[in-house]
Amino acid sequence: MKLTVTKEFTFDCAHMLSYHGGLCSNLHGHTYRLEVTASKDEITNEGSDEGMIIDFGDLKRIVKDSVIDKFDHSFLFWESGSDAEREIAETIKKYGMRIVNLKDRPTAENIAIYIINTLNENLKDSSINIVKVRLYETPTSYAEVKNYV
Ligand SMILES: [Zn+2]
Repeated sequence: MKLTVTKEFTFDCAHMLSYHGGLCSNLHGHTYRLEVTASKDEITNEGSDEGMIIDFGDLKRIVKDSVIDKFDHSFLFWESGSDAEREIAETIKKYGMRIVNLKDRPTAENIAIYIINTLNENLKDSSINIVKVRLYETPTSYAEVKNYV
């Protein structure tokens, strides 16, 4: 039996998929829907556990502080993107607008991996693991990464 809790979030971002052959090579945006699933090896009904993997309010704060506040209304800039992407990023920086530098192309897959790694890094001193991140790029399309241990 594997017990998990999941919380949902939304955030808006602009991105472009440099070198892609389709429409997604254009600068455009999404309202991303994010589902974050947490687990813990064992919970008790005593002490600090109180029968919970994590308080939903605490999960919300962790995701908000480390992901949502950084990503929301930002341009997701791939550092190895095209000249056009680099010029757009430079203009955004010049005018003090929001930008997130990424080592990998800002596909739903790579953003989901970035999010699960960021959250687990922030939780490394706790007994809580983020075991799944599902990131909807559109209402009908999502990438999912699982980290069952
Ligand atoms: Zn897109």
